[in-house]
Amino acid sequence: MKFMKRMAGRLILLMVALVLASCGQSAAEVDIAERIEEEETPVLTWGVKADTNLFGFYSIESGQIEGFDVDIAKALTDEMTDGEGEAEFVEVTSKTRIPLLKNGKIDGILATMTITEEREKEVDFSDSYFNGGQSLLVPEDSEIDGIEDLTENDTVLAIKGSNSTQTMRELAPQVEVLDLENYSEGFVALQSGQGDTLTTDNAILLGMIATNPGYRLAGANFTEEPYGVAINKGQEDFHEMLDEALDTIQGNGVYDEIYAHWFGDVLPADSPNSASTSTTGAADPEVDEEVESGGEE
Ligand code: GLU
Repeated sequence: MKFMKRMAGRLILLMVALVLASCGQSAAEVDIAERIEEEETPVLTWGVKADTNLFGFYSIESGQIEGFDVDIAKALTDEMTDGEGEAEFVEVTSKTRIPLLKNGKIDGILATMTITEEREKEVDFSDSYFNGGQSLLVPEDSEIDGIEDLTENDTVLAIKGSNSTQTMRELAPQVEVLDLENYSEGFVALQSGQGDTLTTDNAILLGMIATNPGYRLAGANFTEEPYGVAINKGQEDFHEMLDEALDTIQGNGVYDEIYAHWFGDVLPADSPNSASTSTTGAADPEVDEEVESGGEE
């Protein structure tokens, strides 16, 4: 009888816990701006890449994820919390970033993510903080010199969840597109000859070339890819804080310092594939054909 009573007591406790949990706000519904104002040491959790040299990559030396997106996230956190807060990082891929944001595992995505109309149906974006453009990576001795050279005999490697895969299908419907899980797998697939070229944004590809000589970009960028910080819808105050913080770091030299640190060598201002911080100019003055960024996979 004692046992039965104990079990019944536990059952009631469990039911109360379940009811409380279902009444509470989900992590994604918490007002992040309010949290920043109220907490002594607010922690902002950012989804960043760990497979993308220059933007977000796992450094064996430091045992941390490093890169341009990571440093921008730290600078934004500092700015939004008056230096009181902390930035934490969660690894995302192109495929997992929106689901992780929506289920509240992260407060924002800083992960080479292009602002597209399609994505704006699901998430909100900050102002743009980087201009990329889609391009092709090929081995040095490849005969492919641009998207116009692709034929029905070519296999193009792309990454799941990136808009590059969709855009490639739209611009070169004759090719076979093979989707890989992440950029590490994508590059290994190119190395092992599973495809003739790998497609994504120029700066990501330049990051691959920087650590893997023997590869080159083929031709000019063929899209414009303005990157934004993605946050959940319904976070209007956080959105405003984010844009203000971005504005401040772009005006006070912090952004320029971070940009020069990561891209000074690979994307000099006079390079034909240079990116710029402006959201208005084309990433490449010689762009033949520009398209609006496509949707998701
Ligand atoms: N900027 C493109 C995108 O947002 C490609 C890079 C990526 O996969 O993150 O899909």
